[in-house]
Amino acid sequence: VRSTEEARRAFAAVVGAEWVETGAEELERAGTATFATRARPGALVRPASREEVQGCVAAARESGLALYPVSRGRNWGYGSRAPVADGAVLLSLERLDAIVDHDERLGYATVQPGVSFRRLAEFLRERGSRLSLNPPGSTPEASVVGNTLERGVVQGAAPDRAGEVCALEVVLPDGRCIRTGMAGLPGSRAARVHRWGIGPSLDGLFLQSSLGIVTEMTVWLRPFPAFHQHFHFTLQHDGSLEPALDTLQRLRAEESVTTSIALHNDFKLLSLFGQYPWALAAGRTPLDDALRQRLVAPLGGGAWFGEAALHASTAGGLEALRERVEGLLGPRVRGLGFTEVNAPGPFFGGAAGDSLAQAYWRKTAPPPPDPDPDRDRCGVIWHAPVAPFEPESVRACASIAREVLLAHGFEPALSLQAVSARCVYVVVSILFDRCRPGEDEKAVRCHAALAAALGDEGFHPYRLGLLDAAEPPPREEGYRALLHTLKTALDPDGMMAPGRYDAAR
Ligand SMILES: Cc1cc2nc3c(=O)[nH]c(=O)nc-3n(C[C@H](O)[C@H](O)[C@H](O)COP(=O)(O)OP(=O)(O)OC[C@H]3O[C@@H](n4cnc5c(N)ncnc54)[C@H](O)[C@@H]3O)c2cc1C
Repeated sequence: VRSTEEARRAFAAVVGAEWVETGAEELERAGTATFATRARPGALVRPASREEVQGCVAAARESGLALYPVSRGRNWGYGSRAPVADGAVLLSLERLDAIVDHDERLGYATVQPGVSFRRLAEFLRERGSRLSLNPPGSTPEASVVGNTLERGVVQGAAPDRAGEVCALEVVLPDGRCIRTGMAGLPGSRAARVHRWGIGPSLDGLFLQSSLGIVTEMTVWLRPFPAFHQHFHFTLQHDGSLEPALDTLQRLRAEESVTTSIALHNDFKLLSLFGQYPWALAAGRTPLDDALRQRLVAPLGGGAWFGEAALHASTAGGLEALRERVEGLLGPRVRGLGFTEVNAPGPFFGGAAGDSLAQAYWRKTAPPPPDPDPDRDRCGVIWHAPVAPFEPESVRACASIAREVLLAHGFEPALSLQAVSARCVYVVVSILFDRCRPGEDEKAVRCHAALAAALGDEGFHPYRLGLLDAAEPPPREEGYRALLHTLKTALDPDGMMAPGRYDAAR
């Protein structure tokens, strides 16, 4: 490794000196997440083009430095912008912010990593497009590419974003650039509309991966439905969860409901709409049963709150779906309610992506107008195991989460997110205040216990965070060996995002 000054000069020669940061304060900020982190980036570099990204890869190789690429760095609850390995150069891609292509009829947009959900939505609106895409729950400032590379989820139609992309442009650790699928065939007219290309499909190699830097991606978008209607319900008692899940799975499988379906427990509801009642609880944690029930009563009460939406191309079609939901789900839940037809809501046309307040649940001051969980020392750790969409599995998973969080002194705020007819993401959040002494350590212990208890029962997360890097779920030997072979072939020096979804483990 050459000296820091030499490395700084090498990157500055590629991107310009003003786009290389090596100040201690800036690097401390870049290494701060919503839980305790030890690794700090060695520098923060902001290239503006694919060519500059390639130049940065060359500079890193020459300097013997590792790179840690991020798109817009809002990976809150999983590690924010902090690299896994200490000293890795943070390559922030927010300046690669071109919307390269958009096709209204075929329903796609091709974007660079700096394009946020908000930018893409504005771009589409300005062009009178009917295509739409909801942001994740954290913020519309998140990156479409960054979110998809983590296989993130959004509410509404097509919640599992990674299932709706193609034509990745990737800079490899040796500096070469490749394009996946049909985009890798010269002159292909189907580059942005066909996923697989010919032969082995390589897209998957670059999602949740340390094998390359994605500099462009085509995302498929759905037209905003002509008719839509949101519905919601509560489950008065926890025991009503099984029959409700059973019915919701049936509605999803027969495609009466084709959006994501969300069920939030009472703890989650409280964290979405308020803050920890420090005064009422006399400073004690976790929240006790009586106080929880008292606080949840003004929100309509109940153990679970559910929401989803219907959509159709005709008014009659929508009405038929509504009748189906009323007939099947109505008798099994309390207060099944529908919004007005075409009224905006979180799944279609409404304020989706506005649940960042929950990061401030255990803080004593309210969320500021410009929330930033890293800066404000909010404690958030996500762990989201995947369960089969069947009542007994979802219940088993939720029960483990509840038990472990309460035993560690945290409220088990759970959201069940059905992303298909086959599986549910049981999204668990450990929410705490990083300013309170001892909480950082307690939360990390809770996360480790949670991951272990769930893993023992075969419930593995759909995505890993920085805290999982030291001990990711074990792989079957053959699969691990294959990943290791791929990593050493593509990145023999281990310079690309070392430790991220570590293939050697
Ligand atoms: C209250 C709250 C609610 C949330 N709700 C959701 C939700 O509903 N759904 C959801 O999915 N997430 C959610 N999140 C988590 C997170 O905010 C989002 O996933 C967000 O989209 C990630 O940040 P980003 O898009 O800026 O991606 P980034 O932080 O830029 O990227 C994520 C990771 O992917 C890798 N990466 C990024 N870009 C590249 C690239 N170009 N090449 C190679 N590797 C790359 C990096 O390792 C990076 O750390 C929530 C968080 C909070 C605090």
